[in-house]
Amino acid sequence: MEVRSILAAGQDPHVYEIKPNDAALVSRSALCFDNGWHLEGANWMRKLAENANKPITSCTTGATPLEINNGAAHDPHAWFSPANAAVYVRNIRDAVSQYDPTHRDDYHARAQLYLDELRTLDGWIRKQMNAIPVEKRILVTSHDAFNYFCREYHFTAATPVGWSTGSEVGGGVTPERRRETVKSIRSFGVRSIFVETSVSPVMIRQIADEAGVVVGGTLYSDSMGPPGSAGETYIGMMRENVLTIAAGLK
Ligand SMILES: [Zn+2]
Repeated sequence: MEVRSILAAGQDPHVYEIKPNDAALVSRSALCFDNGWHLEGANWMRKLAENANKPITSCTTGATPLEINNGAAHDPHAWFSPANAAVYVRNIRDAVSQYDPTHRDDYHARAQLYLDELRTLDGWIRKQMNAIPVEKRILVTSHDAFNYFCREYHFTAATPVGWSTGSEVGGGVTPERRRETVKSIRSFGVRSIFVETSVSPVMIRQIADEAGVVVGGTLYSDSMGPPGSAGETYIGMMRENVLTIAAGLK
């Protein structure tokens, strides 16, 4: 089985606009997957699959959500909790097993290996993050991608942009959010704040100047890294983020 992604490294799923080639790729596929919970702005991946009459699985199905927009929706960035990433793995395992039942045992065995790796990853992250004093655990980034990470590892999140970089309900930058972010940086005495792989770094650089702090590096947020980079795999991008956060906040 071959895996192909619609998004290239660095692209933002919230505001992605589908290209003619995407429909051609989906029409040649057997199975489609999306994140779900409106990570894909206006449900572009689901629409591509439905237009081509292809089955689609939302990887977040069954994950433990964080509520946004006063409980009206789920925060889509669920993969930043390895426990939720395990739910993605099981959903993918079950979808491919159903499509190709003769290899069911192989898919289950490979999935189990990966689930074990996710448990190891979670333990490692916990150890690294516990080494940062609680009062320094504040994560300032462009948009609300890291709420699951923050819940899991006891961080406070502050961002000038809401849950989506697009203009969907409750998403986007507001002057009030921007002001609150600068205020949080000052009141927590934060040393460094972070830019994201899928969002322009301009605003974070401005906020860093304004608040008198440094940019501590780039975190993989809604986009993984290109082939050959540390962020080309899920575990690699999580590890790289944790090292960047630890170096910036300790
Ligand atoms: Zn996002």
